[in-house]
Amino acid sequence: MSNLLHIYQQLLTYYGPRGWWPAKTPFEVVIGAILTQNTNWNNVEMAIANLRKADALTIDVILSIELESLEQLIRPSGFFRQKAKRLQLFCHYLQEFHQGRLEHLFDQELNSVREELLRLKGIGPETADSILLYAGQHLSFVVDAYTNRLFGRLGVLSGKENYAAVRDFFMSRLPQDIQLYNEYHALIVIHCKDFCRKKPLCSNCPCMDICLYKQQNC
Ligand code: SF4
Repeated sequence: MSNLLHIYQQLLTYYGPRGWWPAKTPFEVVIGAILTQNTNWNNVEMAIANLRKADALTIDVILSIELESLEQLIRPSGFFRQKAKRLQLFCHYLQEFHQGRLEHLFDQELNSVREELLRLKGIGPETADSILLYAGQHLSFVVDAYTNRLFGRLGVLSGKENYAAVRDFFMSRLPQDIQLYNEYHALIVIHCKDFCRKKPLCSNCPCMDICLYKQQNC
């Protein structure tokens, strides 16, 4: 079993399946992926609850609603002016080039749809890969700050790799399995929230026996 799979199994055994992404529809995943930039998930949940209450979780409503009203609905997610524009921009794009249908966007080869997403203002690699994996069911590994922190400490990454290098590292070593990619990212997130925090809680960590940081620092 590869090192990455071994770590995955340890995390999965400890936490169990996470059942990500926490959203009811693929469109809600897209909304959440844009809103979660530079904020924590609790704030995103509040913004999405506001959108749901206002029946605004559809492309048509996001396009027709006044920008100021959209800003107020998503205000809890922070950077709400910028994010409201990004949501409308994404919906405009979808309507103009994909018949207003996510299925039409996602019904392309992975690299094509990824390049399309990355050309949109406000969608960087992490957001694009979250959308691709969790909304589009594409085989695209999501890398975030948690991934770099955890695998740097475990001694798997040097900590100097850029986004593309880390993504390639995982995608070239893991089986091509969407469900595994889905679970793995979710497990990394929970592990970094519960144990591998900025100031890590190593003493009860389920990964302590394979962790370089723990061997060198604790
Ligand atoms: S042992 Fe500490 S540094 Fe290593 S993965 Fe666990 S919490 Fe993180």
